[in-house]
Order: sequence, then structure tokens, then C-alpha cells
Amino acid sequence: MMVPKKPADSRQKRRTERAMCRKSDASGNPVFPRTNSDRRFFSVRMGKTRNRKIIAAAALILSAGTMSCEKRQREPESREALGTVCSVNLYESGTESKYGKIFARLDEIDALFNLSSPASDISRVNAARGAPVEVAPDFIKVLSEALEIARVTEGAFNPALGSVTELWRNAKIHTDRIPSKTEIRNALAHADFRKIRLDEQAGTVCMGDAEAKLDLNAIAKGFAADSIAEILAQGNVKGATVNLGGHIYVFGTKKDRSPWKLGIKNPNAPEGIPAVSISGLQDTAVVTSGIYDGFFTNGSGDKNAGGVFFHHIIDPATGFPADNGILSMTVVCRNAAAADALGTAFFVMGKEKSFAMMGEGAFDPVAGGRPLAVSITNDARISASRGLEGYIGVVLNDYTISFR
Ligand code: AMP
Ligand code: MG
Repeated sequence: MMVPKKPADSRQKRRTERAMCRKSDASGNPVFPRTNSDRRFFSVRMGKTRNRKIIAAAALILSAGTMSCEKRQREPESREALGTVCSVNLYESGTESKYGKIFARLDEIDALFNLSSPASDISRVNAARGAPVEVAPDFIKVLSEALEIARVTEGAFNPALGSVTELWRNAKIHTDRIPSKTEIRNALAHADFRKIRLDEQAGTVCMGDAEAKLDLNAIAKGFAADSIAEILAQGNVKGATVNLGGHIYVFGTKKDRSPWKLGIKNPNAPEGIPAVSISGLQDTAVVTSGIYDGFFTNGSGDKNAGGVFFHHIIDPATGFPADNGILSMTVVCRNAAAADALGTAFFVMGKEKSFAMMGEGAFDPVAGGRPLAVSITNDARISASRGLEGYIGVVLNDYTISFR
């Protein structure tokens, strides 16, 4: 096993020691990597990451402090797509054509799942009042994975929630009034994902209910990250970071071949110092759903001045924003689409149910790798999958951590 480098100064050393909750087995190896694929996923070259400076991003990419002085062929690129700012950094592997290919792919995906564009596949399905609609193969692929995760999570992630989320989106854009209970109840009556029919042979989707609507916002960015990872794998890229509005994918390794380190936002002050860091990451998605992304603030429009903030993750059982003490839910998984959808589902399911479900390993068939999670709750507790022990560090002293 590699011996961690000595921290540069004693303050850094203290901070690092406080942050790292390392656990070793009898032979001194970190406990997490249980299978060969896990071993690759969480590289055990932990020592290399210990001295590195934390830099903020969105479940923020904590790239190496040394990166800034490396010579790059090209600056990272950021553009708007999928309703958010998408940033890709190919570091020294970056070329104009690689960036071009990646952003063209993002535009292609946006054209399928964009709810505000009438020409998108999703809007055509939603306008069809239950009739079958021909859609792109990528759309079939995403919807079929969405339906699988909806089944496994018993509808906590619900791709047929569009009629309800539309009410919240309209409230945000057009009114200063939260949807009424009656409006929500009426919309919820048309949100049964089990009625959706997918015909893979014919390439069609049928909602099976004239009033029902799809919303794939909680999985589309994950699919986009998977698609970018495919391009990167074909493009001789050694290391890259992809940030799709806080949905992160880390590809390969850093230039010095050490794995990536990310921070998870403090949900109470999302622009500030991250609450926790996760190190040892390689070829994986790290997706966070948090209360700080909102649909709507009523009253004065300022939650600090008495307005009420309505975050954007809806509990399909009530039609209202999930209210179970979860402030953010992060999922780490090789399959980014699964990480995305599961993050939303776990947020709705709450801490106990989510960790129990992960413990049962219920996701192997859909997730292409065991998902791990980190929840932050309104009692200032961080709960993390045991598989992250040794790789996760509390950055802010306000929080206490336990593993499950
Ligand atoms: P995410 O940021 O990945 O958690 O996705 C949140 C978005 O997914 C929201 O803005 C809604 O459009 C949609 N959404 C909200 N709640 C759910 C849910 N329970 N199941 C599926 N999609 C949801
Ligand atoms: Mg999601």
C-alpha cells in the first residue's frame, strides 16, 4: 500500500487528519474496495490527494491546485444546455474538435428532453394526449432506464410526474401563488408511470393517459454525462471533468495519474465552503440533488425576508416538495443516468429507506455498479455509505458524520 505523503504544513496536516475518516483492515488496506471494479473505481492512491487544495465548484470539482499552472492546449468550455450551464474540462487532452463533438452531443440530447421546446421528443409525447409517438433510440433508452428505476424505487423517482412538475414550473414563471391542493390532486391522478408503454421495435412511446406528461429532467443530465464519457473513452482522453449544473462526472485521472477529489456543497450555504469532500474518484458520476435548487419562492420572493422556498424535488405521494429532513442527497455511481435518477429517488425516500435499499443491493441490475450515497440532513448530520469510509472527509465542523 502506498504511504501517504507528508502534509505540507502542520495546519494542513491537522485539517487533513480531521477530514479523513480512514479505516483499514488488518493488512492496512482501506476497507472500501471489495470487488475488482470497485478497486478501479476508488483508486487506493489516496496519498496523492491528501495535500491538494480544495477549489469550489458545484457538487464541486476539487481539482488539483497544481492544475492551474499546467500548460493546456485549450481552455475548458462552458455552454448552456439541458436547462443549465454545462462545463467540460479536458485539461491537456483538449482540442477544438473534441470539445465540438461533446457540445454537439449535448445539443442533440437537449433536443430530446427539453420541456420548453415544442419540437423535442418529450414535448411531442406530452402533446400527443396518450397516443403513440415515434421517438429517437436515445429517448427509448433513457425512458426504459427511467422506468426500471421507477419500479425499483416504487415510484419515488417518477418519470410520469410531468403534469405535477408543470404546475410548479408555471408557478415559478407566471404566478405568485403556490399550486392549490386541488390542482395538485388533479394532476397527481395522471402521474402513473406504470401506464407508460414503450415499444422498442416500433420506436414509440405511449403515455396511456391523455392527461399524463413525462418529465425526465431528473435523469437526462445523467444520461448526457454517460454519453460524454463514451466520447471521451473513444477520444484518447486521459482525464476530464464534466459538470452539468452540479451533476459531475470525473473521467480517468488527473495528469499525475492520481484520482479526482470532489466536494459536496453545504446545502445551507451552497456558494460557500463545501460540507464534505470525496477522494479516490475515477470514471464515476457524483450527482447531488439539493434543496437549494428551487421551483419557487412565494411572498416577498426572498426566503431570507419571510418568503417560503419551494425546492424542486417533488414527493410523488403528495405532489409537494419532499419534506423529510433531507437537505441534499449525493449518489456516487459509475452509471451517471442511474446516479441522477437514484439521487432524486433517495431524496424523496429519505435517509432510512434509501440506505436500507442500498444495503440490500437492489440496484445491481439497473445501475451497472453499486451506488453509494451521502445524505445531509437538517439535524446537521451527514450519513454516508460504508463503502465511502476512508474516502470521505468532513470539511465543515458544523457537521458530524456516520457510516451505514
Ligand atoms: P434532480 O435535480 O436530478 O433531482 O431533478 C429534479 C427535476 O426532476 C425537477 O426539476 C423536476 O423537473 C423533476 N422531478 C422532481 N421530482 C421528481 C421525482 N420525484 N421523480 C422524477 N422527477 C422529478
Ligand atoms: Mg436526479
